[in-house]
Amino acid sequence: MTSSTRREFLGAMLATAGWPLVSQNEMFALMLGSVQDGGLPQIGCYTERCENARHLHRFITSLALVEPAAERFYLVDATPDLTRQIDLIPGVAFRRRAQARRPFDGIFLTHAHIGHYAGLAQLGREGLGMGRTPCFCSPAMAEYLSTNGPWSLLVDEERLFFPEVPLNEWYSVSESLSVRLIPVPHRHEFSDTVAFAFRTRNRSLLYVPDIDRWEDWDIAVQDIVREVDVALIDGAFYSLAEVPGRPIEEIPHPLIPHSMDLLQDAVRDGSRVIFTHMNNTNPALDAGSAEEAEVRRRGFELARAGLRIAL
Ligand SMILES: [Zn+2]
Ligand SMILES: [Zn+2]
Repeated sequence: MTSSTRREFLGAMLATAGWPLVSQNEMFALMLGSVQDGGLPQIGCYTERCENARHLHRFITSLALVEPAAERFYLVDATPDLTRQIDLIPGVAFRRRAQARRPFDGIFLTHAHIGHYAGLAQLGREGLGMGRTPCFCSPAMAEYLSTNGPWSLLVDEERLFFPEVPLNEWYSVSESLSVRLIPVPHRHEFSDTVAFAFRTRNRSLLYVPDIDRWEDWDIAVQDIVREVDVALIDGAFYSLAEVPGRPIEEIPHPLIPHSMDLLQDAVRDGSRVIFTHMNNTNPALDAGSAEEAEVRRRGFELARAGLRIAL
């Protein structure tokens, strides 16, 4: 892509994402992607959706938290698409930081499934060669990264370190950002899983990209969604029919219509709920599909890379 077509592409993406709605100096979250760990297109998948996506940029679920005035930048989940995703972060300050090998003031990781941390590989010496950066995750995730290669090299070379963050309590990252790590029931393979609640001086944001079942959580999703201004939640599948031949027990996630049923009252009362982490089989990914229309009709939203959320 030439630099002028790249600017056009980014410009179009940001314009459709409501770019002018956020004031210059206000902190914001920027969606860097919105699809499930396997990405879109997914390897070896030649459905119409994946074929079309070979020409688009639909990245795996991730967020940047950007504080323009203080020139602070945080990454929430490090996906295999990270190299191209960080190009969505606007402004010369971030590029200056990246060139100085200190792009992020902190990296938040939910868990050890590939879509959420494998991008760390690009931050080691073969890639960006990142300087010492705090990583906020559960103790089990920190232990996993510290004791398993190649991730342990990032720790041994002091690129990543893990501040002690108590679970379920507000932790002050800076004078303008606090985070709460909330354990979530999700396939426990290499680590456990957390959701993040972020709080700034003005607003709050919940990020739950993966959960097995809302009903397995010791928190009522309706309550936590009502506590925050914006909730970004697991929208992996729309219906069971999407994944023929694979039992849902193998890949458990709440279905979007079920989540809408649970959260309809909260949305009617003004809560903002955005589905993310959509699997490549999910028809809600298709602009103009009946499923996309139904989500919007019910007052919910679907995440897209480039979407800005004022914080
Ligand atoms: Zn995931
Ligand atoms: Zn997962």
